[in-house]
This record gives sequence, structure tokens and C-alpha cells, in this order.
Amino acid sequence: MLQARRIKHCRRCGTPVEYRIPGDDNRERAVCGGCGEVHYENPLNVVGTVPAWGEQVLLCRRNIEPRFGLWTLPAGFMELGETVAAGAVRETEEESGAKVELLGLFTMLNVVRVGQVHLFYRARMLDTSLDPGPETIEARLFHEHEVPWDEIAFRTVRVTLRHYFDCRRGGHFPLHCGDIE
Ligand SMILES: [Zn+2]
Repeated sequence: MLQARRIKHCRRCGTPVEYRIPGDDNRERAVCGGCGEVHYENPLNVVGTVPAWGEQVLLCRRNIEPRFGLWTLPAGFMELGETVAAGAVRETEEESGAKVELLGLFTMLNVVRVGQVHLFYRARMLDTSLDPGPETIEARLFHEHEVPWDEIAFRTVRVTLRHYFDCRRGGHFPLHCGDIE
């Protein structure tokens, strides 16, 4: 189950909140006992890419928790003020240093348990120069047979990579939507 009751104190005045159903609502919210502010909690978007260079795809080895030391596609939380596409490009550059051109949106995966939606674009690398940021131990290109499937950090990344290699064999890349339990 999604972990509820994450907010402890009012973001506006600092008073401890209580979780209850406001009069005009139908689910529990964090309601401030002081100023009455209602804090809404909604899913977060995680945006990223499948960067490809010819037959190879780019993976990043995580230098941060969770899943330190495991491999991931470049991805991270979307920021306010940017589009999904801009966030995917930004995360790719921050984590790997790769310059990419986005192709189509490729996967949209609900991870209801943690309150997230993961969105991955296919992307074409413009060159092979890499410059991993502090969140990444190393970034490197993998042929399909080299992918470390047992050391992939997240199920959404594994699902996206599986779809990618399957689609590549068929030569077209429809959008895949799915739910991760
Ligand atoms: Zn308050």
C-alpha cells in the first residue's frame, strides 16, 4: 500500500497536522490544526530517456540511494516549470552528460504503490561524449547481450528496456502503458 501520512507539520505555519476527511472531500488529507490549511498529496512524475547510439543503449550506475551501485536509465523527478520532454532531456544530461535528441514517448508506467508515474522517451545520442554527474558512478553504452539484467535498479527501467529491445526487433516503437505492482 501507498505509505500515507507523510506530512507531519503544516507547510504554512508549522503546526502539527492531523489526517482527516475535510467536509467537502472524500479522502483523508493532512489538515493543519492551527491555520486550517489542507495539504494535498499527489503522484510525482519521474521522467527519463532510453538513449541509443546505434545498437547500444546508455545506462548509468547509481552513486546514490536507493539502489546504490545498480544500473538505471537516466531519469529523475520532473521539476516545476518544465515539460515532461524538457525534464527527460535535463535528467539525461545531468546523470550522464549525454546530449540527446528526443524521439517518441515510449513508456508510461504507473507505480501506484509509491505514488509515481514513470515516463520514458526514446532518444538518439548526438555523439558519444559522456560526463556523468555526482549521482552517477559511471555511464556506459551496452549492447543488448551485455545488459546487466540482474543489476537493474528499478522495475520500470527493466520493463522499458525489455520493450525497447523487443520493439527494435520489430522495427517500430508504439507507446507502452502499464502498471507496476
Ligand atoms: Zn497551518
